[in-house]
Amino acid sequence: MSEYYGQDGARRVGQVKEVTSLANPIVKDIKTLMNKKAREESGAFIAEGLKLVIDAIELGWVIRTLIYAKAAKGKPLVEKIAAKTVASGGLVLEVSEKVMSSIVRRDNPQMVAGVFEQRWKPLSAIRPQQGETYVALDRVRDPGNLGTIIRTADAAGASGVILVGDCTDPFAVETVRATMGSVFALPVSQASVADFLAWRKGADVQIVATHLAGSVDYRTVDYKKKPTVLLMGNEQSGLPDELAGKADQRVRIPQQGRADSLNLAVATAVMLYEARRHLLSLDEA
Ligand code: SAM
Repeated sequence: MSEYYGQDGARRVGQVKEVTSLANPIVKDIKTLMNKKAREESGAFIAEGLKLVIDAIELGWVIRTLIYAKAAKGKPLVEKIAAKTVASGGLVLEVSEKVMSSIVRRDNPQMVAGVFEQRWKPLSAIRPQQGETYVALDRVRDPGNLGTIIRTADAAGASGVILVGDCTDPFAVETVRATMGSVFALPVSQASVADFLAWRKGADVQIVATHLAGSVDYRTVDYKKKPTVLLMGNEQSGLPDELAGKADQRVRIPQQGRADSLNLAVATAVMLYEARRHLLSLDEA
């Protein structure tokens, strides 16, 4: 393999750049992706873990940079994704554990991480079909909740997640972690309240809003009738009237005990599995 020192001081072995300095400009650039603004400007994000990176590449996501720790060098799967990254025009970095930790801001980091291009599905491209279920989240704020919801929606066979209003970023590293890879499998869209309401007028869907003041038991809705959008409220304030009032049904999950409400991700899971109960069976698993 050829070897030379590039202008940025990184040692290049063949197609792979070896980086050990935290001051390396490429590393500094990647680290900015921890900030939402930098992610928005660059349209990129970081995903950690070999399995996630392999799945993402297999699902056709564009990888800009593959980063692996020295200890992973020579492992066949790592070599394979490194070759795929180079073939698609991406960069491959071999880094020290110290550099990997600083990129993902974690002790004992994963051996592999990737910088991918973000992908959003335009709301106008969603035309719900019979048997489809979508989750619409009003101003979801917690990255862990959003990641868990994307993972659960994927598992339950939903067709997408729509972020309504000012939501937390699905491409934040904590969210991507919590999705366990489902962020690569499930389309995510974003919309203002006005755009969401305009879209629903033209879509043949039923909107089932979950509301603590809902008088309808969530188990009594006919989810087979039409494609369904499950509308979930913000963690602190719940669904505003502006949205709840436009739903076809306002439902509640019965509760006993002292808790005021369920956690948003838990409530979404309960709703998804009820809405898709007739479509889910162990035979297909
Ligand atoms: N204080 C908020 C309120 O008054 O609505 C609590 C919001 S709760 C933590 C977040 C969201 O989870 C709610 O907006 C609703 O979408 C859903 N949720 C939680 N518990 C629910 C229940 N028992 N029935 C229906 N939806 C529920």
